[in-house]
Amino acid sequence: MIKKSYLYKKFYIEITNQCNLNCDFCHNTKRPLAMLLPRGFQYILNEIKPFGNNLYLHVKGEPLLHPKLKEFLDIAAANNCQVNLVTNGSLLDNYQSDFFNHPALKKISISLHSLDFNRLSETEYFKKIILLINHSKCYLELRIWDYNLLNQSSKLRKFVALIEEYFQINFLNENFKINSRISVSYERKFIWPTNFENNQLKYGRCLAYKLMLAVLVDGNVVPCCLDGEANLVLGNIFETKISQIMLNSRYQKMIAGFKNNQIVEPLCQNCDYRLRFEKTPRNI
Ligand code: SF4
Ligand code: SF4
Repeated sequence: MIKKSYLYKKFYIEITNQCNLNCDFCHNTKRPLAMLLPRGFQYILNEIKPFGNNLYLHVKGEPLLHPKLKEFLDIAAANNCQVNLVTNGSLLDNYQSDFFNHPALKKISISLHSLDFNRLSETEYFKKIILLINHSKCYLELRIWDYNLLNQSSKLRKFVALIEEYFQINFLNENFKINSRISVSYERKFIWPTNFENNQLKYGRCLAYKLMLAVLVDGNVVPCCLDGEANLVLGNIFETKISQIMLNSRYQKMIAGFKNNQIVEPLCQNCDYRLRFEKTPRNI
């Protein structure tokens, strides 16, 4: 039996694992490249709805690349689900303003830390972001998920200067709101857990299992958005009911381990993302 407490705050559904960029901190996936079909998305929503309706349309991949993205938003709205988009921002002007005011859209997060891997100049990028800011009424988050980048990237600094001038503000070195709708999020850089030979930490906790579950583009279910290479597949949602997948013994052992301060899975033993759930001092 599934306990009532299995209500996830975030459901990641990877609608594509393709990206138009290749950031050095985000290796292209070794999994076959694919795009989810709308009927597959509908099937996934039918399965997961009892366990959460706050969707993120990525694990790996750039969701704005998907030609059926608007259809996914329509399906989400019809199923009372909210959608959060995390995008590198380079394709924003492929969409019209009505897309950015879709009733299913809750928040759009733009990964500014991808700017150095983008051929666009800071001015071209700025124009796209301002277009979004002016056309959308949903919450917007500007992410700099590497504290050190403002010191290291002159392109990012120039972009930030354009935003500062536009809004007549100064960027802070911590999370802050530009206004009631737009915020800036800083985080430490995380490393995708792919190398299982180092840092095999056996003790510690992670709260991700309480917050999220992720469905990859081929239907494989993994415990969190950090398993971009499908190292810990709990089952396939197109073959097994999600309620059954959640009872997967490996998953249950992983959760029991975290409750006892033990890191059971090699994936987790090599993951530093879990530290985000702890209060760590910033290194700005
Ligand atoms: S970080 Fe984002 S933009 Fe960069 S390669 Fe990964 S998915 Fe693409
Ligand atoms: S330790 Fe990392 S990989 Fe493991 S559940 Fe937590 S966030 Fe996911």
